[in-house]
Amino acid sequence: MIRKLIGKVLRRPGKKVLHAKHLGIRREMLHSNALKVCDKLQDAGFDAYIVGGAVRDLMLGKSPKDFDVATSATPEQVRHVFHRSRIIGRRFRIVHVPFYDRDGEEIIEVTTFRGASDAPTDDAGRILRDNVYGTIEEDAARRDFTANALYYDPNAEEIVDFHHGVEDIEAKRLVMIGDPVQRYREDPVRMLRAVRLASKLGLTIAPATRKPMAELADLLENIPSARIFDEMMKLLLSGKAWACMCMLRDEKLHKHVLPLLDRLLSRPESSAFLQKALENTDTRLAEDKPVSAGFLFAALLWQEVELRWKKNEAAGEHAMPALVNAMNDVEARVEKKLAIPNRYSAAMKEIWLLQPRFEQRVGMRAHRLLEQPRFRAGYDFLVLRAECGLADKALAEWWTQFQYCDQDTRAAMVANLGKGAAGAGDKKRRKKPRRKPASEKAATDKPDGGGSEQ
Ligand code: ATP
Ligand code: MG
Repeated sequence: MIRKLIGKVLRRPGKKVLHAKHLGIRREMLHSNALKVCDKLQDAGFDAYIVGGAVRDLMLGKSPKDFDVATSATPEQVRHVFHRSRIIGRRFRIVHVPFYDRDGEEIIEVTTFRGASDAPTDDAGRILRDNVYGTIEEDAARRDFTANALYYDPNAEEIVDFHHGVEDIEAKRLVMIGDPVQRYREDPVRMLRAVRLASKLGLTIAPATRKPMAELADLLENIPSARIFDEMMKLLLSGKAWACMCMLRDEKLHKHVLPLLDRLLSRPESSAFLQKALENTDTRLAEDKPVSAGFLFAALLWQEVELRWKKNEAAGEHAMPALVNAMNDVEARVEKKLAIPNRYSAAMKEIWLLQPRFEQRVGMRAHRLLEQPRFRAGYDFLVLRAECGLADKALAEWWTQFQYCDQDTRAAMVANLGKGAAGAGDKKRRKKPRRKPASEKAATDKPDGGGSEQ
């Protein structure tokens, strides 16, 4: 009891100014555009700091994903300093300051210090609008975690810390500022942010920050599915996607984001499949290689699609319409919680639709499949399935060989299928020629893999 009280007193918020160099942060480590924004705002007489994830990541020895600037200037005043900037957002007005170089456009996000206003909330306590401006101290109190509320002044080379953020980062702790219950009520997405930041940065969520999450998980139900999708993308592209999915489920937050995770993670093959898919993604990101969101969602939802596909087939549907119906079912179920934009769901469906086609190799089918624009993604998906016992290993190996050999060898490989090397799909096709139903035609005859119009 007494220890708790002392802890509370010692943890009272209060301004601390620290030498950035002592915390391992030097001006050269920051992106020149973010420095330019701070310099120009300070020259114009405003306070300006680099804040949030960038300072936290630098302290943890990681390279920041983006640089955010917090300032005493209002959005209009920022616009005045940077003529090419634009004010965006309604719930939170922020200014985007664009910079252009050989690599394209870089945006530095500038936010005005938020005040400790009584922002309007809905019945569940969720903040609806938040455009009252205030002091740096008030702004710090409005941020989510102590580690995210550090302000770096690049000219003074100082870090301003109001909430023991430095201490928490050093102790590898993720601590909510203020009363966690109230802060989750204001914005339930903070629960998903806690999972992502803890997984990505190897931080432990402090007990008081963690405890209310299970109880308040239902509040995620009120969040628009497009925002949930954005957060889901951040989790999947965090570089620790597998750890994020496991924590999401452990903290029971998946119910309102991706309820299928329960079934998926409870089966060894499907769990191994997802783990492999997500760890591949994590490795690609670590190597600075591009990753496909369509592929990620294809992997995440495959188990459900496959279950329904098999069920439809068992009920007498032909393979392709059974798959198309299964895909449509899963999509309809998922989209209530997670609005996957068309550009990703089209790729996801094309990958799925290619799966049965890998089993049909006779005649010119294999050659035609090789020319599909989505062949590579579909093939990678097949290999992943095979590695986890969810598809025939020999089939995946056949395709590995087929795509890398010369035309003569390809012709021989296909001819060989007639001599006993054919898979179940090849055989079935030859024994039972049949007219394709219309839905199958639409899905298979199109040169691009055909999934996009489903
Ligand atoms: P990263 O950019 O590495 O994903 P980040 O912490 O910088 O992590 P951003 O979404 O860029 O995340 O947000 C910048 C800062 O804005 C955060 O560090 C935090 O201080 C504040 N912030 C973001 N989202 C919230 C929120 N939902 N509630 C309170 N503060 C937030
Ligand atoms: Mg950031």
